[in-house]
Amino acid sequence: MSKTLSYPLVHGEVALVGAGPGAADLLTCAAAQLLANCDVIVHDALVSQDVLDLGCSNTERVFAGKRGGQASAIQSDICATLIRLARSGKRVVRLKGGDPFVFGRGGEEIRALAEADVPFRIIPGITAGIAAPAMAGIPVTDRSVNSSIAFLTGHEVSEDSRIDWSALVAAFPVMVFYMAARVLPELAVRLMDAGMDFSMPVAVIRNASLADESVHIGTLQQAKTGKITAASPSIVIVGETVNQRIPWRNQPS
Ligand code: SAH
Repeated sequence: MSKTLSYPLVHGEVALVGAGPGAADLLTCAAAQLLANCDVIVHDALVSQDVLDLGCSNTERVFAGKRGGQASAIQSDICATLIRLARSGKRVVRLKGGDPFVFGRGGEEIRALAEADVPFRIIPGITAGIAAPAMAGIPVTDRSVNSSIAFLTGHEVSEDSRIDWSALVAAFPVMVFYMAARVLPELAVRLMDAGMDFSMPVAVIRNASLADESVHIGTLQQAKTGKITAASPSIVIVGETVNQRIPWRNQPS
């Protein structure tokens, strides 16, 4: 157990690697090391070009993106591709945006690899739900505001939600939503119906850590009426901690 995470991949091994939110220097050292020493990189749509550029120029790149999160059939194709590449003796980096296990289907991939007896390792990454508020200068927990935090997907806003929204609002003063850009008005309605105040602050952080990062701040009411809007990929953070924000990016150095 004393091995570092970045010891060289053996032929036929897969590394499931978190790429972080986008900026290449938010990668872990292990991720950078493995990217520079592999035969093939199988990556998602969310992995930034800056991160991909860290692979050697002669490393094969396979795009295995899914935008919008549908199509589980495609997920099985991705698992099959990983197994095929590994069995052909390649050293494979499976690169996923943020952290592979946070709304990233990494679990399905390691289960498929384990079933196929393909050796693998896991390199966590900085998840967007943590990185995006930090880039915006918003502490996700602040002693004066919250001692718990909820991470959710925007898909839960739909009619057949598995969530008890009133219980959620009562339990979590701060909530961080992934994949919620397209459903922002519906999300605001859900939260207000569940008892959250219409004046609760909301931040929408798009393309966190990248050159075109943007931050929009408003209230739940403004999110409901479309006064603040969001485009994908964005993190939406709801709670008083948004008011603790101190912008720090783009300051003169
Ligand atoms: N595994 C990823 C999440 C995949 S779900 C992680 O841990 O971050 C995809 C969602 O992640 C997007 O819809 C968006 O909500 C969020 N996301 C990923 N990268 C982002 C970025 N740079 N800025 C803002 N949101 C991002």
